[in-house]
Amino acid sequence: MVDFGFKLSKSSAIVLSETADPRFARLVALEPDVMRCMSCGSCAGSCTAASFTTLSLRRVILDLQRGQTADATGQIKHCMLCGKCTLVCPRGLNTRHIILSILQVYKEEE
Ligand code: SF4
Ligand code: SF4
Repeated sequence: MVDFGFKLSKSSAIVLSETADPRFARLVALEPDVMRCMSCGSCAGSCTAASFTTLSLRRVILDLQRGQTADATGQIKHCMLCGKCTLVCPRGLNTRHIILSILQVYKEEE
């Protein structure tokens, strides 16, 4: 093969079929709205627990969509269910209910 002095890098695209976690499908069945999250971060910006923990609901939802569950389930345990994120979500997601469903679904197989 001719050496042109450069090579193509491996794709950094996330292949969802490889990272899919069956628990996420169960979460979506319970909370279809979780797919409407647009990762705006309003929930994380207003979160009561975020000022003294690593909790970011925006990050948790993104990680669960990507099948990266370990950090997400660790973070969500810091939630105090105060409901401030529900008040600010521009998509009108019932985030508190979503958090309870995440705790329920991801606890099932731990
Ligand atoms: S309900 Fe949980 S995630 Fe939402 S603002 Fe309160 S502590 Fe943060
Ligand atoms: S405020 Fe709502 S839409 Fe924005 S990141 Fe949080 S859950 Fe998603």
